[in-house]
Amino acid sequence: MTQIKLFCPATIANLSCGFDVLGLCLDNAGDEMIVRKVDQKGVRITKIVGADLPLETEKNVSGVAALAMLEAYESHFKVIDFGFEIEIYKHIKAGSGIGSSAASSAGAVFGINELLGQPYSRKDLVQFAMQGEKLASGNAHADNVAPALLGGFTLVRSYAPLDIIRIDSPEELFATVVHPQIELKTSDARSVLKQNVSLKSAIMQWGNVGGLIAGLYTKDYDLIGRSLHDEIVEPLRSVLIPGFDQIKQTALENGALGSGISGSGPSIFALSRGKNTADQIAKAMSEVYENMNLPYEIHVSKINPDGVRIL
Ligand code: ADP
Repeated sequence: MTQIKLFCPATIANLSCGFDVLGLCLDNAGDEMIVRKVDQKGVRITKIVGADLPLETEKNVSGVAALAMLEAYESHFKVIDFGFEIEIYKHIKAGSGIGSSAASSAGAVFGINELLGQPYSRKDLVQFAMQGEKLASGNAHADNVAPALLGGFTLVRSYAPLDIIRIDSPEELFATVVHPQIELKTSDARSVLKQNVSLKSAIMQWGNVGGLIAGLYTKDYDLIGRSLHDEIVEPLRSVLIPGFDQIKQTALENGALGSGISGSGPSIFALSRGKNTADQIAKAMSEVYENMNLPYEIHVSKINPDGVRIL
C-alpha cells in the first residue's frame, strides 16, 4: 500500500461539564485526506482544497503532527529512507469549534501509521496529534484529537502521564451542532476564563462529569441530560456567541437532553435521543439564526464509534 484516503471526523470538545477533558466524535461532518508514501524523505503538504491554510509543513497542524510521529518512530524503531505527501480536502472551517485542526492532525498520523504497517495503536497516536494542536492553539490539548482518533466519547483522565479512556456511546444518541459564521479566536475565548474556581463550583462540575460518564455507561439518557451542565466556563464564554441563550433554550424546548458551547465556540451543540429529535432541534436552531439574519452551518450526526476511517 502506498496511498490511503481517509475521512477525518469533526469532534465536539468539552461537552459542558468536561472542559479540556471530554470530547465526542461526529459521524458525517469532517474532512478528507490523502496520505501517500513517496521516495523523497520528509513530509510535504502538496494540496489543500476548501480552505486558505499554509502548505508549509511546519505551519500546518498535519505536518507538525506527522513530523512529531516520524521523529519518535525513527528513534524507537528505525530510520526510514522514504517520505510522505499529504493532500487535505477541508470541509470543516478552521476556528469553528468542531475540531478542524484536530481532524487534520489526527488524519495525518493515522494515515502515516497505516502506511508504516501500524507500528502504533490509535491511542499511541494521540500524543503525536496533540503536537498539531499545540501549533493551532499554543496548548497540546487532547480533547479533540482523542475522539477524532478513537471515536465515541473520550475522557482525558490525566495529561501527565497521558491517560485517555474511550467510552461507548448509547446507540440512539445524536448531536446537533450549529456554527454561526462569526470569528471567535480560541485565544479570545481563553482570555475570558478565570484561573481559579470556587470549591462550590468545582463540586458541581465534578459531580456532573461523574454523572455524564455514568449516564453513558448505563445508557441513562436522563442522567446524561442532567449532567450536561457547565458551572465554570459557559457563563463566561457564552456572552461571546451571538444568540447563545436563545439557541440553547430553543434546543431544550425541542427535546434536547442538554446543550452548550462546542469546544471554544462559536459552534453550539445539543445532544438528543433519536434522529427525529436531533432534526427537530436543527430546524428550531436554524430559525433562531435566520430571524437574526446571521449566516450559519448546521450538522446533525450520530456519534461516530470508530474515529478516523479509511475510505
Ligand atoms: P478548531 O477548533 O476548529 O480546530 P482552532 O482555532 O483550534 O479551530 O484551529 C485553527 C487554527 O489552526 C487556525 O489558526 C488555522 O490556521 C490553523 N491550522 C493549521 N493547519 C490547519 C489545518 N490543516 N486544518 C485546520 N486548521 C489549521
